Amino acid sequence: MSRIALVTGGTRGIGAAISVALKAAGRTVVATYAGNQTAAENFTAVHGIETVKFDVGDFEQTIEAIGRVTSRLGPIEILVNNAGITRDATLARMTRDMWDAVIDTNLGSCFNLCKATFDGMKERKFGRIVNIGSINGQAGQYGQVNYAAAKSGIHGFTKALAQEGARFGITVNAIAPGYVDTDMVRAVPPEVLEKIIAKIPVGRLGHAEDIARGVVFLTADEADFITGSTLSINGGQHMY
Ligand code: NDP
Repeated sequence: MSRIALVTGGTRGIGAAISVALKAAGRTVVATYAGNQTAAENFTAVHGIETVKFDVGDFEQTIEAIGRVTSRLGPIEILVNNAGITRDATLARMTRDMWDAVIDTNLGSCFNLCKATFDGMKERKFGRIVNIGSINGQAGQYGQVNYAAAKSGIHGFTKALAQEGARFGITVNAIAPGYVDTDMVRAVPPEVLEKIIAKIPVGRLGHAEDIARGVVFLTADEADFITGSTLSINGGQHMY
């Protein structure tokens, strides 16, 4: 039986590449999204991967949506917490709403999704969880106290949950991508992006597939001795 994998924010950008790579690795994949219906429909039409719409930052919605998925397909054995947003501003200009939105979507979502799936993994004595952090959670970034705090939190969350999952055959790891060519990075002003690329030793932005390959590696059945780790995939930026 093919294992069930759920990828949050799995219909666009890095998440879409992860969904496609996990399907190619033989998993039954469900990709979630927030509201971009057109992107989700195109994604299903092209890749034949089913999608589910809910807000990962909302606890009740998450529990309800995961309940629907598991009662139809069976327990989720591979969870990729990938959905994320930015609401950038310096602290002086950042509103409380911008802070809350980023913390809830990027970090609260890890709590919500893990609450909804972890007990099932424990019962089956198997689970693979990968949380998508960021180089900006490792190094910080000007104008991103909300995003850097959320992503840094993901790295701590990962190491703590890894300790709870270890004796149940559940691994919990993080990937910290550098700058990857997706809609999120295309929103960065070109002059800023130019300076960023100049700091990447391999001399280019990452491709979503570069991150997806890391997810396939960490979620393999054989990867059971890798837990609590952060895999940096960043073209050598800062050498983290
Ligand atoms: P995109 O903006 O391209 O895609 C984001 C995805 O997340 C979409 O599918 C979106 O759904 C979904 N999403 C956003 N908010 C919610 C929500 N509240 N509930 C459910 N789904 C939601 O992002 P990227 O592919 O660039 O980024 C993916 C992850 O990688 C993020 O966690 C990001 O922080 C991280 N990352 C990205 C880097 C980069 O350079 N791109 C670098 C480092 C980390 P919808 O389509 O409906 O909007």
